Amino acid sequence: MNYDLLIKNGTIIDPSQNINKMSDLAIKDGKIADINEAIDYQLAKEVIDAKGKIVTPGLIDLHVHSFWGGTIYGIDPDSTLISKGVTTALDAGSTGSVNFPAFRNHVIDKSKTSIYALLNVSSIGMISNNYGEIENMKWFDYDSTLEVFEAHRDLIIGVKARLGRVQAGVNDIEALKRAIELAEAINGILMIHIGNSPTPLPKLIQMLREGDIITHSFHGIGDGILEKSGEVIESMKEAQSKGIIIDVGHGAGGFSFKAADKAMTNGLLPSNISSDLHIGNIEGPVFDLLTTLTKFMYLGMSLYDVINLCTNKTAQIMSKVEIGTLNIGATADITIFYEEEGQFKLYDRTSYSYMNPANKIGPSNWELPQVVIANKRLSHSYTIKNGVVYRPWLK
Ligand SMILES: [Zn+2]
Repeated sequence: MNYDLLIKNGTIIDPSQNINKMSDLAIKDGKIADINEAIDYQLAKEVIDAKGKIVTPGLIDLHVHSFWGGTIYGIDPDSTLISKGVTTALDAGSTGSVNFPAFRNHVIDKSKTSIYALLNVSSIGMISNNYGEIENMKWFDYDSTLEVFEAHRDLIIGVKARLGRVQAGVNDIEALKRAIELAEAINGILMIHIGNSPTPLPKLIQMLREGDIITHSFHGIGDGILEKSGEVIESMKEAQSKGIIIDVGHGAGGFSFKAADKAMTNGLLPSNISSDLHIGNIEGPVFDLLTTLTKFMYLGMSLYDVINLCTNKTAQIMSKVEIGTLNIGATADITIFYEEEGQFKLYDRTSYSYMNPANKIGPSNWELPQVVIANKRLSHSYTIKNGVVYRPWLK
């Protein structure tokens, strides 16, 4: 036996190598061993028939919340990520310096899904909808944040700052300054959450550096990315040309079909597609990353392009070149799925009532949720992690 696992007859799409063709793929010792048009099935201990299916590098979700039980947002990673095709995810600021060690010990270290993290600029992280984590400047703690980063630099790759009124009160500019200072101190990336910030968006964007990430880019709420005329605000286009990442971060309220459609028609395409999966959107409107990709295909992007934006590009954004690719010798993290035809309802946001009514973001500020009917969707078949087919019942 030359191989441990052979995936036969699938369409392999790996934008990191410009591959988009029918081929077989062999795995040995947890690594990609060969991609070839006809590999003999007798050479492998186990064979998966992927006829009619798509075989890609394991999907990477750049924005999730997976501190289950530790914050109001936390989802269980294995039942929501690896079991839906996501082999690696970035937790976007669920925890700060106070609670990251618990997140690591109780969730990350026990999960089959690989989880990296952005540390929240606030030491308390995103514990509850009822408290904005940077409303109170007492919750900043520069020294303890650096200390926690030093102790966990294998997993923490940057900083997250949520700059909406709900999370930051009037402190958005101060929070962003401190987040940049921290990101520079740890040589990490910075992700900002936008939407309804007290400071106009162009002013916040101006402060960002190349490689920093704007998430919820296509939200349809107040202070958005579109001018009243429907044009994309100039600073958003400038940001993308400067190498700032325009991320989706769908979430419960961070994605609008209308805003995304207008932005894309105006030439602002996402640089990355992420779900912002959390407890408030897993039963809809997000469901999972493949559904989020389906929405961008509905908006006109190709299958190849949406896969690029959650594998190859995402690995580059995270500076993790060992994932997001099917290169020979790379870790065998693989997702197998298929295009299903039919009539599928897709939702862009939850209704206003999900958000904390005490925050008084008036419905007048919000677009109503939109439902569209797509004639195809991406549906999950298998996830392979480190060369092993993920079988939850064997956990
Ligand atoms: Zn989020």
